[in-house]
Amino acid sequence: MKIARHLLISNIFDFAGIVGGLAIGLLVWNSFIVGGALALLGMGLSHLVFVILLPARCPNCNGHTSYRRGKRPHRYECRKCYHVETAKLSTNWGG
Ligand SMILES: [Zn+2]
Repeated sequence: MKIARHLLISNIFDFAGIVGGLAIGLLVWNSFIVGGALALLGMGLSHLVFVILLPARCPNCNGHTSYRRGKRPHRYECRKCYHVETAKLSTNWGG
């Protein structure tokens, strides 16, 4: 998967994980604390899935890149050739 698309989809999943976790915590346990914990869990899960199971493809060597989370801009580093690609996303929400 291309890096731009990977970033977009992983951001959507992060958002869904956070909102979904919070909603479940509030609806089921009626608690912001549980909701917050589930939101973190959802974010962690989506991060795990997109880093380990669905890595983006390196534009340089076509190998798998690891997703380096953090401050904008997002960076992807290739595990094979160590090429670092900076990914930009126009939307303002999510990671
Ligand atoms: Zn590479």
